[in-house]
Amino acid sequence: IDEATALRKSYKGKVTGEDIPLPIGSFEDLVTRFSFDKRLLNNLIEKHFTEPTPIQCEAIPLSLNGRDIVACAPTGSGKTLSFLIPLLQRVISEGSNGTGLRALIISPTKELANQIFIECDKLSHKIFLDKKRPLQVALLSKSLNAKLRNKVISDKKYDIIVTTPLRLIDLVKNEALDLSTVKHIIFDEADKLFDKTFIEQTDDILSSCNNPKLQKSLFSATMPSSVEEIAQSIMMDPVRVIIGHKEA
Ligand code: ADP
Ligand code: MG
Repeated sequence: IDEATALRKSYKGKVTGEDIPLPIGSFEDLVTRFSFDKRLLNNLIEKHFTEPTPIQCEAIPLSLNGRDIVACAPTGSGKTLSFLIPLLQRVISEGSNGTGLRALIISPTKELANQIFIECDKLSHKIFLDKKRPLQVALLSKSLNAKLRNKVISDKKYDIIVTTPLRLIDLVKNEALDLSTVKHIIFDEADKLFDKTFIEQTDDILSSCNNPKLQKSLFSATMPSSVEEIAQSIMMDPVRVIIGHKEA
């Protein structure tokens, strides 16, 4: 058996879909296989992230290839970095051209949104787009919402926004945030965001992101079949990644 198969077997990884890239075996693989940003790799190493976890091995190359993914891996398995690393790399490589919001990370709770923001902020430390301006990440807090609404801050200022659904919908309804430039959307704890309580809000957000090439990613510890069906229906040639056993 080949290396990729052996690696997948070692972490009980199941990857289904078309044109599946090889998993990475180390973060250094990113430098050889993708023209990965040195500063970003440095930030990873400085934070003592030396070896990728299984979900990171699989999800990072897929996302860097621009694929839509539905990923399911246990709690504590490193899902946050598995979407942040490729997202930051993609935003960096798109450069500072064409201003406007590039990516949205949606979380069902404020606490989780805050954690994702902190992680994203650390990873993007000292990263400049085309050596011109720092990459800008924001957490959509109550006060930032107010500033955006009152145009104290331009909605073109940020590259990546981390938010709960309602905060975002509120801004869009008030025409205080343009989502037409958004190229990447990530749903964390997607089992919740695609469940009954959130599905209408999620639908609202998706219909406001009108870029036809929107890359969509879903991350979750559990993925009930009913949720996965809805999720798959909104995606383009999605790849499904399961690490360990799929919990219902
Ligand atoms: P999940 O979202 O899958 O529940 P998290 O993304 O919150 O998991 O990560 C759980 C913990 O593992 C965090 O403290 C995170 O910093 C740490 N972690 C993630 N990736 C790595 C890695 N490659 N090496 C070491 N620690 C990691
Ligand atoms: Mg998580």
